[in-house]
Amino acid sequence: MSKLLDVRDLHVSFTTYNGEVKAVRGVNFYVNKGETVAIVGESGCGKSVTSQTIMRLIPQPPGIIRHGEIHFADRDLVKVSDKQMEKIRGSELAMIFQDPMTSLNPTMTVGRQITESLIKHQKLGSSKARQKAIELLRMVGIPSPESRAKQYPHQFSGGMRQRAMIAIALSCRPKLLIADEPTTALDVTIQAQIIDLMKRLQEKFGTSIILITHDLGVVADIADRVVVMYAGIVVETGTLHEVFFNPHHPYTWGLMASMPRLDLHHEQELLPISGSPPDLISPPKGCPFAARCRHAMKVCTEYMPEMTDLSSTHQVACWLEHPMAPKANKHTGRNG
Ligand code: SF4
Ligand code: MG
Repeated sequence: MSKLLDVRDLHVSFTTYNGEVKAVRGVNFYVNKGETVAIVGESGCGKSVTSQTIMRLIPQPPGIIRHGEIHFADRDLVKVSDKQMEKIRGSELAMIFQDPMTSLNPTMTVGRQITESLIKHQKLGSSKARQKAIELLRMVGIPSPESRAKQYPHQFSGGMRQRAMIAIALSCRPKLLIADEPTTALDVTIQAQIIDLMKRLQEKFGTSIILITHDLGVVADIADRVVVMYAGIVVETGTLHEVFFNPHHPYTWGLMASMPRLDLHHEQELLPISGSPPDLISPPKGCPFAARCRHAMKVCTEYMPEMTDLSSTHQVACWLEHPMAPKANKHTGRNG
């Protein structure tokens, strides 16, 4: 499989009055063509900053890309000019957000917004673009698209606005779609419909997807591979099967243990792992999870664990993988 996106050793910081917040600290991951990669982790772990950096949407300043490369379709997105980036964003990269109102224009009809995007990015004539806009609205499951196209975003329900956002994103035929918590604000039935829609569109267009979410049910439903982030670093990555059925990082164990079950309420809190993530102004020099980890050893607080290969697709950054480490039992949480 060929890599469409390859993020290498990415470091992103934000300047604040209290100091430099090191939000992303050496992130590596890739996305193959036609693949869905989920980035999971609790809020503040750097997943949204990573995706916004790929889109070059972080405000600079206060944001700053300290180091790293973002290879996308033969270019380094860290290095391209703002003008080139604007072109890439409209044609090869697209993003959908949790709240579509932040990216829909409230003063323009939904049909016109799609039409303008088609004229700009696919260079269609206006009548062809109007026709295509209606086709797209139909494709994303908006009923009576001809009359809906003439309405404004506020006349749409939350689920319909998210569908309209997807229609706009698709109007540029992106190679990569980044979806940041696309279903979080929606109720469970609509969530399932949106995920289903993304899956069908991916099959149809072969689009790669990065899905940013804290909802592991959604991940299980759509992801090929999973990247687990904690305190600005990738702590574990692997295929969906590897991360869900054979997780090796204590943080991932905690995530999996907190996965909402079908018989429980869906909105339940993700993390029953006690404690909170470290301060990223002065992050610990060792493993960032040490303060919350039941398996922490002396080495953990002193040295950052390196990524260890468990398979060609499965990697974990934890001292428990060191050949000299005591065996941890994830079921009892005890060493030995
Ligand atoms: Fe826990 Fe140590 Fe592994 Fe960090 S490196 S997750 S503290 S065992
Ligand atoms: Mg976020």
